[in-house]
Amino acid sequence: MSLAIRIHRHGGPEALTLDNVKVGAPGKGQVLLEQRAIGVNFIDVYHRTGLYPVTLPTTIGLEAAARVEAVGEGVVDWQPGDRVAYAGGPLGAYAQRRLMPAERLVRLPDEIDDRAAASMMLQGMTVQYLVRQTYRVSPGETVLWHAAAGGVGLIACQWLRALGATVIGTVGSDEKAALAKAHGCTHTINYRRENFVERVRELTDGLGVPVVYDSVGRDTFEGSLDCLQRRGLLVSFGNASGAVPPFSLGVLAQKGSLFVTRPNLAGYTAARDDLLQCAGELFEQVRAGTVRVATHHAYPLAEAAHAHRDLEARKTTGSIVLLP
Ligand code: NDP
Repeated sequence: MSLAIRIHRHGGPEALTLDNVKVGAPGKGQVLLEQRAIGVNFIDVYHRTGLYPVTLPTTIGLEAAARVEAVGEGVVDWQPGDRVAYAGGPLGAYAQRRLMPAERLVRLPDEIDDRAAASMMLQGMTVQYLVRQTYRVSPGETVLWHAAAGGVGLIACQWLRALGATVIGTVGSDEKAALAKAHGCTHTINYRRENFVERVRELTDGLGVPVVYDSVGRDTFEGSLDCLQRRGLLVSFGNASGAVPPFSLGVLAQKGSLFVTRPNLAGYTAARDDLLQCAGELFEQVRAGTVRVATHHAYPLAEAAHAHRDLEARKTTGSIVLLP
Protein backbone atom coordinates (compact mmCIF):
# COMPACT_ATOMS: atom_id res chain seq x y z
CA MET A 1 0.00 0.00 0.00
CA SER A 2 1.05 3.61 -0.41
CA LEU A 3 -0.31 7.05 0.38
CA ALA A 4 -0.88 8.91 -2.87
CA ILE A 5 -2.39 12.18 -4.06
CA ARG A 6 -5.11 11.39 -6.57
CA ILE A 7 -7.83 13.13 -8.56
CA HIS A 8 -11.24 11.54 -8.98
CA ARG A 9 -12.59 14.58 -10.87
CA HIS A 10 -11.07 17.66 -12.47
CA GLY A 11 -11.12 20.92 -10.54
CA GLY A 12 -9.17 23.28 -8.31
CA PRO A 13 -6.56 22.26 -5.72
CA GLU A 14 -9.39 20.87 -3.56
CA ALA A 15 -9.76 18.08 -6.13
CA LEU A 16 -6.48 16.58 -4.85
CA THR A 17 -7.26 13.82 -2.36
CA LEU A 18 -4.94 11.79 -0.14
CA ASP A 19 -5.77 8.13 -0.71
CA ASN A 20 -4.28 4.85 0.41
CA VAL A 21 -3.69 2.88 -2.79
CA LYS A 22 -2.57 -0.66 -3.52
CA VAL A 23 0.84 -1.01 -5.15
CA GLY A 24 1.40 -4.46 -6.62
CA ALA A 25 4.68 -6.31 -7.12
CA PRO A 26 6.68 -5.10 -10.13
CA GLY A 27 5.70 -6.82 -13.39
CA LYS A 28 7.86 -7.52 -16.41
CA GLY A 29 10.14 -4.56 -17.15
CA GLN A 30 8.93 -2.69 -14.05
CA VAL A 31 10.63 -1.43 -10.94
CA LEU A 32 9.05 -0.79 -7.53
CA LEU A 33 10.23 2.55 -6.15
CA GLU A 34 10.36 4.00 -2.66
CA GLN A 35 10.13 7.70 -3.34
CA ARG A 36 12.31 10.22 -1.49
CA ALA A 37 11.39 13.60 -3.03
CA ILE A 38 8.73 14.45 -5.62
CA GLY A 39 8.92 17.34 -8.10
CA VAL A 40 5.93 19.68 -8.48
CA ASN A 41 5.55 21.06 -12.00
CA PHE A 42 3.01 23.28 -13.69
CA ILE A 43 1.99 20.34 -15.90
CA ASP A 44 0.55 18.74 -12.74
CA VAL A 45 -1.92 21.64 -12.63
CA TYR A 46 -2.92 21.02 -16.28
CA HIS A 47 -3.59 17.36 -15.42
CA ARG A 48 -5.60 18.36 -12.36
CA THR A 49 -7.75 20.90 -14.23
CA GLY A 50 -8.20 18.69 -17.29
CA LEU A 51 -6.41 21.09 -19.69
CA TYR A 52 -4.30 18.02 -20.58
CA PRO A 53 -6.46 14.88 -20.80
CA VAL A 54 -5.98 12.07 -18.25
CA THR A 55 -8.02 8.98 -17.38
CA LEU A 56 -9.74 9.30 -13.98
CA PRO A 57 -9.17 8.44 -11.22
CA THR A 58 -5.40 8.85 -11.30
CA THR A 59 -2.44 9.66 -9.11
CA ILE A 60 -0.80 12.74 -10.66
CA GLY A 61 2.86 13.83 -10.91
CA LEU A 62 5.67 13.08 -13.32
CA GLU A 63 8.95 13.46 -11.43
CA ALA A 64 10.75 12.08 -8.37
CA ALA A 65 14.00 10.91 -6.85
CA ALA A 66 13.70 7.42 -5.41
CA ARG A 67 15.34 4.18 -4.30
CA VAL A 68 14.74 0.92 -6.09
CA GLU A 69 12.88 -1.42 -3.74
CA ALA A 70 12.34 -4.41 -6.05
CA VAL A 71 12.66 -5.25 -9.74
CA GLY A 72 10.40 -7.27 -12.03
CA GLU A 73 11.18 -9.94 -14.57
CA GLY A 74 13.70 -9.03 -17.24
CA VAL A 75 15.07 -5.96 -15.42
CA VAL A 76 18.87 -6.23 -15.46
CA ASP A 77 20.03 -2.60 -15.15
CA TRP A 78 18.62 -1.93 -11.67
CA GLN A 79 18.98 -3.52 -8.24
CA PRO A 80 17.32 -2.87 -4.87
CA GLY A 81 18.98 0.13 -3.22
CA ASP A 82 19.93 1.96 -6.44
CA ARG A 83 19.44 5.75 -6.35
CA VAL A 84 17.37 6.81 -9.33
CA ALA A 85 15.27 9.66 -10.68
CA TYR A 86 12.74 10.11 -13.46
CA ALA A 87 10.84 12.86 -15.25
CA GLY A 88 8.05 11.77 -17.54
CA GLY A 89 6.57 8.38 -18.26
CA PRO A 90 3.28 7.28 -16.70
CA LEU A 91 1.57 9.61 -14.21
CA GLY A 92 1.81 8.67 -10.53
CA ALA A 93 4.71 10.50 -8.89
CA TYR A 94 2.69 12.03 -6.02
CA ALA A 95 3.02 8.85 -3.93
CA GLN A 96 5.22 7.22 -1.31
CA ARG A 97 5.73 4.11 -3.42
CA ARG A 98 4.97 3.35 -7.06
CA LEU A 99 5.74 1.16 -10.05
CA MET A 100 7.71 2.60 -12.98
CA PRO A 101 8.93 1.19 -16.30
CA ALA A 102 12.65 0.45 -15.76
CA GLU A 103 13.53 2.15 -19.06
CA ARG A 104 12.37 5.57 -17.79
CA LEU A 105 14.83 5.65 -14.87
CA VAL A 106 18.12 7.51 -14.73
CA ARG A 107 20.93 6.75 -12.26
CA LEU A 108 21.58 9.64 -9.87
CA PRO A 109 25.16 10.82 -9.44
CA ASP A 110 26.32 10.78 -5.77
CA GLU A 111 26.78 14.54 -5.64
CA ILE A 112 23.12 15.24 -6.48
CA ASP A 113 20.89 14.72 -3.43
CA ASP A 114 17.27 13.63 -3.59
CA ARG A 115 15.70 17.06 -3.15
CA ALA A 116 17.97 18.62 -5.75
CA ALA A 117 17.20 15.79 -8.17
CA ALA A 118 13.44 16.15 -7.70
CA SER A 119 13.87 19.91 -8.14
CA MET A 120 15.61 19.71 -11.48
CA MET A 121 15.09 16.57 -13.54
CA LEU A 122 11.98 17.70 -15.39
CA GLN A 123 12.74 21.41 -15.45
CA GLY A 124 16.46 20.96 -16.20
CA MET A 125 15.96 18.45 -19.01
CA THR A 126 13.37 20.83 -20.42
CA VAL A 127 15.95 23.61 -20.50
CA GLN A 128 18.46 21.25 -22.13
CA TYR A 129 16.22 20.39 -25.07
CA LEU A 130 14.91 23.96 -25.42
CA VAL A 131 18.30 25.74 -25.58
CA ARG A 132 20.42 22.95 -27.12
CA GLN A 133 17.97 21.23 -29.45
CA THR A 134 14.76 23.13 -30.28
CA TYR A 135 16.87 26.25 -30.92
CA ARG A 136 20.62 25.94 -30.40
CA VAL A 137 21.45 29.22 -28.64
CA SER A 138 24.86 30.64 -29.64
CA PRO A 139 27.20 32.86 -27.62
CA GLY A 140 26.37 36.55 -28.07
CA GLU A 141 22.72 35.96 -28.99
CA THR A 142 19.92 37.68 -27.09
CA VAL A 143 16.89 35.59 -26.10
CA LEU A 144 13.60 36.47 -24.43
CA TRP A 145 12.52 34.09 -21.62
CA HIS A 146 9.10 34.50 -20.01
CA ALA A 147 8.56 33.67 -16.31
CA ALA A 148 12.32 33.84 -15.74
CA ALA A 149 12.07 33.41 -11.95
CA GLY A 150 10.06 30.16 -12.12
CA GLY A 151 11.34 26.61 -11.84
CA VAL A 152 12.27 26.23 -15.51
CA GLY A 153 13.18 29.92 -15.70
CA LEU A 154 15.91 30.00 -13.05
CA ILE A 155 17.64 26.97 -14.58
CA ALA A 156 17.35 28.55 -18.03
CA CYS A 157 18.90 31.84 -16.88
CA GLN A 158 21.96 30.01 -15.53
CA TRP A 159 22.38 27.70 -18.53
CA LEU A 160 22.01 30.58 -21.01
CA ARG A 161 24.54 32.67 -19.12
CA ALA A 162 26.98 29.74 -19.31
CA LEU A 163 26.38 29.64 -23.08
CA GLY A 164 27.33 33.33 -23.33
CA ALA A 165 23.83 34.51 -24.26
CA THR A 166 22.16 37.74 -23.18
CA VAL A 167 18.87 36.91 -21.43
CA ILE A 168 15.90 39.24 -21.29
CA GLY A 169 13.55 37.76 -18.69
CA THR A 170 9.97 38.69 -17.86
CA VAL A 171 8.89 38.46 -14.21
CA GLY A 172 5.83 39.26 -12.11
CA SER A 173 7.44 41.21 -9.24
CA ASP A 174 10.52 43.17 -8.16
CA GLU A 175 11.61 40.27 -5.91
CA LYS A 176 11.40 37.91 -8.86
CA ALA A 177 13.42 40.37 -10.96
CA ALA A 178 16.23 40.37 -8.38
CA LEU A 179 16.19 36.58 -8.20
CA ALA A 180 16.32 36.16 -11.98
CA LYS A 181 19.24 38.59 -12.17
CA ALA A 182 21.09 36.71 -9.44
CA HIS A 183 20.75 33.60 -11.63
CA GLY A 184 22.22 35.20 -14.76
CA CYS A 185 19.32 37.05 -16.36
CA THR A 186 20.80 40.17 -17.98
CA HIS A 187 17.69 42.39 -18.20
CA THR A 188 14.36 41.90 -16.47
CA ILE A 189 10.95 43.26 -17.43
CA ASN A 190 8.04 43.29 -14.99
CA TYR A 191 5.32 42.37 -17.50
CA ARG A 192 2.59 43.14 -14.96
CA ARG A 193 3.35 46.85 -15.22
CA GLU A 194 5.58 47.30 -18.30
CA ASN A 195 4.87 46.68 -21.99
CA PHE A 196 7.32 43.87 -22.65
CA VAL A 197 7.21 44.26 -26.46
CA GLU A 198 8.30 47.90 -26.24
CA ARG A 199 11.00 47.07 -23.69
CA VAL A 200 12.42 44.24 -25.82
CA ARG A 201 12.57 46.56 -28.84
CA GLU A 202 14.38 49.20 -26.73
CA LEU A 203 16.86 46.67 -25.38
CA THR A 204 17.64 45.32 -28.87
CA ASP A 205 17.90 48.68 -30.70
CA GLY A 206 14.62 47.99 -32.44
CA LEU A 207 15.78 44.67 -33.90
CA GLY A 208 13.96 42.14 -31.74
CA VAL A 209 15.31 38.75 -30.71
CA PRO A 210 15.97 35.59 -32.77
CA VAL A 211 14.10 33.37 -30.31
CA VAL A 212 11.40 33.73 -27.64
CA TYR A 213 10.75 30.98 -25.08
CA ASP A 214 7.12 31.37 -23.98
CA SER A 215 5.52 29.14 -21.33
CA VAL A 216 2.94 31.72 -20.23
CA GLY A 217 0.76 31.06 -23.28
CA ARG A 218 -2.49 32.96 -23.76
CA ASP A 219 -1.46 36.28 -22.17
CA THR A 220 1.91 36.61 -23.94
CA PHE A 221 1.58 34.75 -27.26
CA GLU A 222 0.85 37.74 -29.51
CA GLY A 223 3.36 39.98 -27.81
CA SER A 224 5.99 37.27 -28.11
CA LEU A 225 5.54 37.22 -31.90
CA ASP A 226 6.07 41.00 -31.91
CA CYS A 227 9.41 40.63 -30.10
CA LEU A 228 10.93 38.49 -32.87
CA GLN A 229 13.38 39.45 -35.58
CA ARG A 230 12.50 38.61 -39.16
CA ARG A 231 12.45 34.79 -39.51
CA GLY A 232 12.68 34.44 -35.72
CA LEU A 233 11.37 31.43 -33.77
CA LEU A 234 8.68 31.41 -31.10
CA VAL A 235 9.04 28.36 -28.87
CA SER A 236 5.64 28.05 -27.19
CA PHE A 237 6.11 25.43 -24.48
CA GLY A 238 3.47 26.06 -21.83
CA ASN A 239 0.13 27.56 -20.80
CA ALA A 240 0.50 29.02 -17.30
CA SER A 241 -2.06 31.74 -18.16
CA GLY A 242 -4.22 29.48 -20.34
CA ALA A 243 -3.92 27.76 -23.71
CA VAL A 244 -2.96 29.80 -26.78
CA PRO A 245 -6.12 30.28 -28.88
CA PRO A 246 -6.13 29.16 -32.52
CA PHE A 247 -4.53 31.72 -34.86
CA SER A 248 -4.23 32.30 -38.57
CA LEU A 249 -0.95 31.07 -40.10
CA GLY A 250 -0.94 34.18 -42.28
CA VAL A 251 -0.01 36.17 -39.16
CA LEU A 252 3.45 34.57 -39.31
CA ALA A 253 4.01 35.93 -42.84
CA GLN A 254 2.74 39.41 -41.93
CA LYS A 255 5.01 39.67 -38.91
CA GLY A 256 8.19 38.75 -40.79
CA SER A 257 8.23 35.12 -42.01
CA LEU A 258 8.26 33.81 -38.46
CA PHE A 259 8.47 30.24 -37.15
CA VAL A 260 6.46 28.76 -34.27
CA THR A 261 7.02 25.41 -32.57
CA ARG A 262 5.13 23.73 -29.72
CA PRO A 263 7.50 21.12 -28.21
CA ASN A 264 7.33 18.97 -25.08
CA LEU A 265 9.83 16.97 -23.03
CA ALA A 266 8.19 13.67 -23.94
CA GLY A 267 8.89 14.35 -27.60
CA TYR A 268 12.60 14.87 -26.90
CA THR A 269 13.14 11.99 -24.44
CA ALA A 270 10.91 9.17 -25.72
CA ALA A 271 13.91 7.11 -26.89
CA ARG A 272 16.15 5.87 -24.05
CA ASP A 273 19.32 7.19 -25.73
CA ASP A 274 17.77 10.66 -25.98
CA LEU A 275 16.70 10.52 -22.33
CA LEU A 276 20.21 9.57 -21.17
CA GLN A 277 21.85 12.19 -23.39
CA CYS A 278 19.52 14.91 -22.10
CA ALA A 279 19.91 13.94 -18.42
CA GLY A 280 23.68 13.50 -18.87
CA GLU A 281 24.10 17.05 -20.20
CA LEU A 282 22.10 18.39 -17.28
CA PHE A 283 24.25 16.50 -14.76
CA GLU A 284 27.38 17.89 -16.48
CA GLN A 285 26.14 21.45 -15.99
CA VAL A 286 25.47 20.73 -12.32
CA ARG A 287 28.89 19.09 -11.82
CA ALA A 288 30.58 22.07 -13.51
CA GLY A 289 28.68 24.43 -11.18
CA THR A 290 27.19 26.39 -14.09
CA VAL A 291 23.70 25.31 -13.06
CA ARG A 292 22.93 25.28 -9.32
CA VAL A 293 19.54 24.00 -8.28
CA ALA A 294 18.05 24.86 -4.92
CA THR A 295 14.69 23.68 -3.66
CA HIS A 296 12.80 26.91 -3.00
CA HIS A 297 9.67 25.35 -1.49
CA ALA A 298 9.09 21.97 0.20
CA TYR A 299 5.68 20.68 1.38
CA PRO A 300 4.64 17.36 2.94
CA LEU A 301 3.04 15.08 0.33
CA ALA A 302 -0.31 15.44 2.12
CA GLU A 303 -0.17 19.22 1.47
CA ALA A 304 0.05 18.96 -2.31
CA ALA A 305 -3.05 21.18 -2.62
CA HIS A 306 -1.20 23.94 -0.78
CA ALA A 307 1.70 23.64 -3.24
CA HIS A 308 -0.70 23.89 -6.20
CA ARG A 309 -2.44 26.93 -4.71
CA ASP A 310 0.86 28.75 -4.26
CA LEU A 311 2.13 27.80 -7.74
CA GLU A 312 -1.03 28.98 -9.48
CA ALA A 313 -1.17 32.19 -7.44
CA ARG A 314 2.35 33.04 -8.76
CA LYS A 315 3.63 33.00 -5.16
CA THR A 316 6.48 30.55 -5.79
CA THR A 317 9.91 30.98 -7.34
CA GLY A 318 12.28 28.27 -8.55
CA SER A 319 11.58 24.62 -7.80
CA ILE A 320 9.01 22.96 -5.53
CA VAL A 321 9.11 19.48 -4.00
CA LEU A 322 6.75 17.28 -1.99
CA LEU A 323 8.23 15.10 0.75
CA PRO A 324 6.61 11.69 1.16
P1 NDP B 1 6.87 28.13 -12.83
O1 NDP B 1 7.60 27.95 -11.56
O2 NDP B 1 7.57 28.85 -13.94
O3 NDP B 1 5.48 28.80 -12.53
C1 NDP B 1 4.76 29.42 -13.55
C2 NDP B 1 5.06 30.93 -13.60
O4 NDP B 1 4.38 31.47 -14.74
C3 NDP B 1 4.52 31.71 -12.41
O5 NDP B 1 5.37 31.70 -11.29
C4 NDP B 1 4.38 33.09 -12.99
O6 NDP B 1 5.60 33.81 -12.88
C5 NDP B 1 4.13 32.83 -14.50
N1 NDP B 1 2.75 33.17 -14.87
C6 NDP B 1 2.41 34.12 -15.77
N2 NDP B 1 1.09 34.20 -15.87
C7 NDP B 1 0.56 33.31 -15.01
C8 NDP B 1 -0.77 32.97 -14.65
N3 NDP B 1 -1.85 33.56 -15.21
N4 NDP B 1 -0.95 32.01 -13.72
C9 NDP B 1 0.09 31.40 -13.14
N5 NDP B 1 1.38 31.68 -13.46
C10 NDP B 1 1.62 32.65 -14.38
O7 NDP B 1 6.41 26.66 -13.37
P2 NDP B 1 7.31 25.51 -14.01
O8 NDP B 1 8.74 25.87 -13.91
O9 NDP B 1 6.83 24.22 -13.48
O10 NDP B 1 6.87 25.54 -15.53
C11 NDP B 1 7.02 26.72 -16.30
C12 NDP B 1 6.25 26.58 -17.58
O11 NDP B 1 6.93 25.70 -18.45
C13 NDP B 1 4.83 26.05 -17.42
O12 NDP B 1 4.00 26.71 -18.35
C14 NDP B 1 5.00 24.61 -17.81
O13 NDP B 1 3.84 24.02 -18.27
C15 NDP B 1 6.04 24.71 -18.90
N6 NDP B 1 6.79 23.48 -19.11
C16 NDP B 1 6.74 22.90 -20.35
C17 NDP B 1 7.46 21.78 -20.63
C18 NDP B 1 7.49 21.26 -22.01
O14 NDP B 1 8.29 20.35 -22.31
N7 NDP B 1 6.67 21.75 -22.92
C19 NDP B 1 8.24 21.10 -19.59
C20 NDP B 1 8.28 21.82 -18.33
C21 NDP B 1 7.55 22.95 -18.11
P3 NDP B 1 5.55 35.45 -12.82
O15 NDP B 1 4.81 35.80 -11.55
O16 NDP B 1 6.97 35.85 -12.80
O17 NDP B 1 4.80 35.87 -14.03
